[in-house]
Amino acid sequence: MTDIKLTDVPQEVKKRSLEPDANTIYDVIVIGGGPAGMTACVYLARKKMSVLLISNDFGGQVLWTSEIENYMGYQYIMGRELAQKFTEQVNSFPIAVRVPDEVIAVEQDEHLFLVQTKYEGNYKGQAVIIASGKQPRILDIPKERELTGRGVSYCATCDAPLYAGKDAAIIGGANSAIWAAIDLKKVARKVYLIVRSKIKADHILVERIDQEANVEQLIGYIPIEIKGKDRVESLVIKNTKTDEIKELSVQGIFVEAGLIPNTGFLRDMVKTNERNEIIVACNCETSEGGVFACGDVTNVSDKQIIIACGEGAKAALSAYRYIIEKK
Ligand SMILES: Cc1cc2nc3c(=O)[nH]c(=O)nc-3n(C[C@H](O)[C@H](O)[C@H](O)COP(=O)(O)OP(=O)(O)OC[C@H]3O[C@@H](n4cnc5c(N)ncnc54)[C@H](O)[C@@H]3O)c2cc1C
Repeated sequence: MTDIKLTDVPQEVKKRSLEPDANTIYDVIVIGGGPAGMTACVYLARKKMSVLLISNDFGGQVLWTSEIENYMGYQYIMGRELAQKFTEQVNSFPIAVRVPDEVIAVEQDEHLFLVQTKYEGNYKGQAVIIASGKQPRILDIPKERELTGRGVSYCATCDAPLYAGKDAAIIGGANSAIWAAIDLKKVARKVYLIVRSKIKADHILVERIDQEANVEQLIGYIPIEIKGKDRVESLVIKNTKTDEIKELSVQGIFVEAGLIPNTGFLRDMVKTNERNEIIVACNCETSEGGVFACGDVTNVSDKQIIIACGEGAKAALSAYRYIIEKK
């Protein structure tokens, strides 16, 4: 058996990422730089495919996560730290990287895919991997849009520290809402948890807020209006059974009302299910030849980092086989 010493692991990884080139026909264009997309990039680069990664950011939802305890190899790691490690791994391969940018359309032209970005024109690829994940669902109530970034937030991990000593409300009853409450209870004076019907989060998480004096759970309420001139001043909620109205004086509102798949830019190119998730076969093929999808944007049953990484690896290997057979 070979003895592996820690000193054998390179301490500083050389950055080898490439500038994107609009004249190159890439083997594969990966859309989305979350766990699924970044894993796909690494797998493709190791197969010597020419790869272009286009993403709004490096990390995706992992950037909104504070503590991670279920990614193998790390008993405990902060989301930003894990995202940083993924990014370093991507950058250690000769992958063309267009981050930050946003894909606004994907079109098929003969045997090629044209991927249009918001800021840098079009790129060409022989295959595409969609790894665009999910984004927060909005509440669609008065003043939500106007006051986004001025008290209304969709990322407790990012913004909780801004509410030190203040009062805040969280809307939602799933894991992400409870994580928001865990983050906020440490800094805020008072935290209201507004839940429509019942809490649907993991018991182990709920236990962490159940006994907290500064967390008030308001079950059976929905938000109906946000008030405030330049910043959030209050949240109006309604009891779903009695129609009773309450106005909570808060400076922060954290929307944790679920996530929706980022598929708008595909404009019906591939088949989706009733939740607008891309339908994939178990090898990550979509309904369109040459288009593969992986991670949270798809109909895979569970949405987790380790699952997104595994799906990203599968999508890359399927895309690789597709390209080899085509050549
Ligand atoms: C608050 C919270 C806590 C969580 N905690 C955990 C946890 O503890 N453990 C765990 O395993 N999982 C956790 N998850 C779930 C996990 O983060 C996701 O399952 C995982 O990030 C999905 O990876 P993905 O690559 O499929 O998608 P995402 O992470 O959503 O990444 C999608 C990427 O695509 C980019 N993108 C989207 N649209 C476009 C476009 N049009 N053009 C260019 N780029 C685009 C995005 O910017 C992003 O980089 C948590 C999620 C949340 C929200």
